[in-house]
Amino acid sequence: MNKADTQMSQHFLLSRVAKTLTLAHVMRLSNEEAEALFARIRWPDTNGAPVCPKCRCQAVYDVRRPTGPARWRSKTCGKEFTVTSGTLFAWRKMPVQSYLAATAIFINEVKGKAALALSRDLGTAYKTAFVLAHKLREAMASEMKGLHVGGEGKTVETDGAYFGGYVKPANLKENRRDRRLAKNQSGKRRVVVIVRERGGATLPAVFRSESAALGWISSHVAKGSRIVADEAPSWNDLHSRYEVEHTGNQVAVSGRQELLWQPVNTSARRH
Ligand SMILES: [Zn+2]
Repeated sequence: MNKADTQMSQHFLLSRVAKTLTLAHVMRLSNEEAEALFARIRWPDTNGAPVCPKCRCQAVYDVRRPTGPARWRSKTCGKEFTVTSGTLFAWRKMPVQSYLAATAIFINEVKGKAALALSRDLGTAYKTAFVLAHKLREAMASEMKGLHVGGEGKTVETDGAYFGGYVKPANLKENRRDRRLAKNQSGKRRVVVIVRERGGATLPAVFRSESAALGWISSHVAKGSRIVADEAPSWNDLHSRYEVEHTGNQVAVSGRQELLWQPVNTSARRH
């Protein structure tokens, strides 16, 4: 894949349309509807109108064969392409519905989808699902890399929510301390940490502990931001880089569910 293709294939996974995909919706689509939806996710700037993956031109001939998938030929460079050409889905011939379903399944899983479960859901071989899951994960990770929120005069809220393993009720202050003690670590527990710019984008990531997220926060929250966090000691080190305001425990806890389930807003800016 050339650079332009790589960027395009990364983009669509976190696009607003991709983020709101549900499996139920995907399963009801006809072939043509699925192709049109995939095209809108892949080419958001043209609202689904095909763009040549080689020369980026939008002047194309429709060269679909009677029973084949949507296919175009670039008027500028002559390249023939389909809706998946030059994306991470181009490596294998599967119905477009399967790619949409894989995206929906994958994106709705906070921790990433186990390949075995994905292969069952899609009715594909384990190896196919394994490669697909790996490609999706890689694309999402590299997409997140360049994104950041905040900046001078901006406020960024951050919070963590633990899941997996043994979790005490999180809404009591003493338990919120206990959950960080070594004896409570089962090894399976993870924390989803969210940074959200007020009125702006949200970025999530998964860690073993809140303190393990500090490096990630530093690289994704622009310097000069004012950070709002709860009183957890794991956030103490943020003081060296940001102005930090602590919320009362109550506020942090009530905001948690909302933060967790809010879809990623991809309007986050690039470095
Ligand atoms: Zn072209």
